[in-house]
Amino acid sequence: MMNYLEIKKEILKKIEEYEKIIIVRHVRPDGDCIGSSLGLRDILRESFPNKKIYSFGKTKAEFLNFIGKEDEQKDSSIYKDALIIAVDTANCDRIDDDNYKLGKELIKIDHHINVSEYGDINYVREDYPAACCIIVDFYLTFKEKLKMPKSAALALYTGTVTDTGRFKYSGVSAEVMRLTAVLLDYDLDLEKIYANLYIKDKEVLSLQGEVYRKFKTTTNGVSYIYITDKMMKKHKLSYEEASALVNSLDSIKGSLIWIAFIDQQDSSIRVRLRSRFVSVIEVGQKFGGGGHPNACGATLKKKKEIKDLLQYADNVVKDYKSKNEGWI
Ligand code: AMP
Repeated sequence: MMNYLEIKKEILKKIEEYEKIIIVRHVRPDGDCIGSSLGLRDILRESFPNKKIYSFGKTKAEFLNFIGKEDEQKDSSIYKDALIIAVDTANCDRIDDDNYKLGKELIKIDHHINVSEYGDINYVREDYPAACCIIVDFYLTFKEKLKMPKSAALALYTGTVTDTGRFKYSGVSAEVMRLTAVLLDYDLDLEKIYANLYIKDKEVLSLQGEVYRKFKTTTNGVSYIYITDKMMKKHKLSYEEASALVNSLDSIKGSLIWIAFIDQQDSSIRVRLRSRFVSVIEVGQKFGGGGHPNACGATLKKKKEIKDLLQYADNVVKDYKSKNEGWI
């Protein structure tokens, strides 16, 4: 098994070898996947101006437009002979563009639990709380050869602050802070970044009010809300805006797990699971999903599975509370 430095050297070798590099990322993009994709793209463009380098992804996240835009993919033939780098994506089924299969070689760069080594090279750092940290560290490792423009620093900073819950989640270490400090050397406009991340439309606050009125809590401490299609329509909100409201349930005393169930267009139900102290990963995996210990996702085909999932999550909290003290 290669150590991290050897893997990084292998990745740089491939990047140097290829004329065309395409960066892809997971479906339902968040700050870290867009940030790591655009950050890596802009570092590579600045460092290798003669290569063709693209960031592709189908579904968009408009709230992230302020960090830059991905490239428009006109034709799948662009993938021919390309080196594909998938960032922030644990399993290849979640890559937001099946065309990645048309590329020549595939590199996986990720920080989720390593459930699948789908790349020709796999560089997985579960010790980093954001994929953006992996990219910053990669840049610093080869600082003699790579250049980072301000646009990359903005994207990577934004990805890091979003995926760490503003440096709040476990996994934030001194090293993460040192990596992030490199980005702050670029004189980023923090007021603008946080305004983009925090300011909400009134409609969102109005649905948030409904979430606070309607959420329920199970016997042992799982708080949950089911955001129906009807609720989204009533408040004139997009599915993404409504889904973000899972975080509204993050500070309820005694609720160590909180969950949002959200109706999807195809009548399946998206599950967003979050937790403090206790890991929620076994709940996500039990219901066909995955992610991180404190932030997971899954998709349910039928409404009645909600009850099973809540029962399972409730038992996880019960078990944790019976064996541990000091939780809040
Ligand atoms: P989300 O609630 O969509 O923000 O997801 C939280 C974390 O779980 C992210 O790191 C996702 O990449 C991961 N995740 C979400 N849904 C799934 C899924 N169905 N399978 C595996 N991982 C997922």
